Order: sequence, then C-alpha cells, then structure tokens
Amino acid sequence: MGHLRNMLLAGTGSGLGAKLRLAWGKIRRFYLGHFRPGYVESKINLRRGECLRCGACCRLLYICPELEELADGSTRCRIHEERPKNCRIFPVDQRDLNDRGLVGGDMNEGPCGFSFGESG
Ligand code: SF4
Repeated sequence: MGHLRNMLLAGTGSGLGAKLRLAWGKIRRFYLGHFRPGYVESKINLRRGECLRCGACCRLLYICPELEELADGSTRCRIHEERPKNCRIFPVDQRDLNDRGLVGGDMNEGPCGFSFGESG
C-alpha cells in the first residue's frame, strides 16, 4: 500500500501525475470517511470558512454528472441532500485543499471558501 501511495503522490500538477494524485485523494477521503470518523471530526472542527459553491471539488479527477452550473457563475449539486460521504466531508484537511488546487478552469480562480490552520 505504501508503494502505491508514494507512486500516486508523485504527481506534479498536470497530466497523469495529477490524475493519479486526485485518484489517491478520492481513495483517501473514502477511507477516512468510512474508517476514521474521529480524525475527520477533529479536522472538520478545525475548519474555518464556508463553501462558496465554486464547484471545484466537484471536478476532482472528473466532472461530477450531478454538478449544475448556474447563470451567476456558482454551482449547485442536484443530489445535495443525498450526496456521497466523500462530498459531505470535503475538505477534510489541507491535503484536500492542495488537491483542489490541481483542478484548473475558470471556476477555480479563487481559493476554496474553507481553510485550515498551519497544522492542516
Ligand atoms: S472547492 Fe470549496 S468552496 Fe468550492 S464548492 Fe468545494 S467546498 Fe465549496
């Protein structure tokens, strides 16, 4: 598992490396959300800010088919009340915000509305 993790984390910010890193992020969030609820809760308690509905986290690795772009430039999730746990807990920590930073496009010009302290 460690070798696979290191391989996926070797991504640099574009192309295959970035895709592998984003894929690892999805796996990591799935693991944390389902098996490390205490960690997730402790990190979310440190989280500051609010979602700005930019939709960037709905474009990690692929564009979620439930993402709807609105005329005012914001977005909405068509299944917001029933969205998967991976989406509910984003961002768990600074690593998720770093992954978000890999996603390009007009909707990612500003930072995520959430932030963490130095310890992330
Ligand atoms: S990237 Fe951050 S601000 Fe944008 S939709 Fe996701 S949680 Fe909200």
